[in-house]
Amino acid sequence: MKQSHDVIVVGAGPAGATLAYELGKRGIGVLVLEKEKLPRYKCCAGGVTRKAAKLLDFDISEVVEDVIYELSFNFKLGRPYLGQHSQPLIYTVMRDVFDHFLVKRAQQLGAVLIDGQKVTQIQVSADWIEISTTDNIFRSRLVVGADGAYSVVARELGMVRSMEYATGIESEIVVPEEEMAKWKSRVQIDLGCIPGGYAWVFPKRNHLSVGAGCLASKARHLNRHHQKFLNSLGISSYTIARSSSRLIPMCTKGRFVWQDKALLLGDAAGFTDPLTGEGIYNAIQSAQLAAPVIENSLVRGKVGLQDYQQIVEWKIMSELRIARTLSKNFVRFPRLAFGVFNQSEEVWRAVSNLMLGEINYAAIKGKVGGFRGILNRLLRF
Ligand SMILES: Cc1cc2nc3c(=O)[nH]c(=O)nc-3n(C[C@H](O)[C@H](O)[C@H](O)COP(=O)(O)OP(=O)(O)OC[C@H]3O[C@@H](n4cnc5c(N)ncnc54)[C@H](O)[C@@H]3O)c2cc1C
Repeated sequence: MKQSHDVIVVGAGPAGATLAYELGKRGIGVLVLEKEKLPRYKCCAGGVTRKAAKLLDFDISEVVEDVIYELSFNFKLGRPYLGQHSQPLIYTVMRDVFDHFLVKRAQQLGAVLIDGQKVTQIQVSADWIEISTTDNIFRSRLVVGADGAYSVVARELGMVRSMEYATGIESEIVVPEEEMAKWKSRVQIDLGCIPGGYAWVFPKRNHLSVGAGCLASKARHLNRHHQKFLNSLGISSYTIARSSSRLIPMCTKGRFVWQDKALLLGDAAGFTDPLTGEGIYNAIQSAQLAAPVIENSLVRGKVGLQDYQQIVEWKIMSELRIARTLSKNFVRFPRLAFGVFNQSEEVWRAVSNLMLGEINYAAIKGKVGGFRGILNRLLRF
């Protein structure tokens, strides 16, 4: 017999788990279908900015690996610009632990998880949506695609449009204690050593997450550049516990993220910041924006989910558009991007306030007089 549910969420990453939690708070029953067995590894630097953590109404400290107060920006591993802050800017996490922690929160509010269930097909009829997995068929009134970069929901419902991709590669390097101590509370970002992107080091409790990312169109030699970056840090001889790569989806202009009975969240919608590669913030934010729209539809009988499109246009896509314009220039001119930091403390203040969630791209753009203002400053530099 087919099981019937109000809402089926496909994917138990930060987007799916947060939506299940938010709907649980509203007394709405949710089934979460996840293809992996939880906890599952996720290729990610595991940087949860302070602004992302602030979105959650519970404490995440039990799953935090390190707390970052300092960012070191380099150009081709040269002399760094060191930005420091008295408040935590980023929390580093292991995604298997962090994501499972979020799912458990949702389960406490009544969400049902079935893991090891890969969704393969979705069929929409007038009354129901039928969701097939490798060994089951489920029915629901609404379906939400929170199934990441390779979203089957977006594909099955014909919503894979207006998308660009970056490629990210990540290695978990186990280093001795004295090496770990050098990285405590500090993230390093290197501009210029990865054509069309950047490289990073994020410290965890017992190892370093070292990665690199760039536009997928420039990723042919990403592996080689990543290896060179590891060599130049002097840590390539240590054990690589894990190494993998994934696509990072970024929506472009005109992306539709809703249909009559379906919504897309997080990576499935392409909500990663094209400048920084940060995706957890918008995964959580999109889920929080979707929850009241779903409630209006299921509980108050409001027809259609188009309000979700409107709210994400305003809160998310407008921000991503600015980040995209900045990213295009910074990717093309990494030396200039690095030089901007040395120009004045004001730039670091803006960057740190972005991470703290005290300012957004629109406010920065307004403050410096639009893109023309930003360009003038760069030219002055
Ligand atoms: C190398 C790299 C480094 C990154 N570093 C950072 C960082 O430091 N900070 C940051 O904020 N962001 C980072 N990101 C981006 C971030 O990982 C994503 O934006 C974020 O995971 C999006 O969350 P999500 O819930 O939308 O999707 P995901 O976390 O991808 O979750 C999707 C879930 O859906 C499941 N799923 C997929 N297909 C199916 C299916 N057919 N049936 C059932 N389940 C399915 C998957 O198994 C997965 O559990 C990085 C990305 C990469 C590639």
